[in-house]
Amino acid sequence: MSNGRPFRRSHRSMGDLFSQVEDQPIPGGCDACNAFQTVTTIDTGIHSLTVHHDDWCPLLRSRYAGTN
Ligand SMILES: [Zn+2]
Repeated sequence: MSNGRPFRRSHRSMGDLFSQVEDQPIPGGCDACNAFQTVTTIDTGIHSLTVHHDDWCPLLRSRYAGTN
């Protein structure tokens, strides 16, 4: 089934959006602290989104609890 929308087009515009905000902090990404996010381009069309939590973030602590 198809709704007639070209998927590649929306995919490409998402990449354009990422390259526009690359290396600029984007507020948000975590409900428990004042986190921000950064986008890094790994390769053409491949981007990495990183969430930077505050040190005191309870979500971050619970996420990595028991891994060290
Ligand atoms: Zn957080």
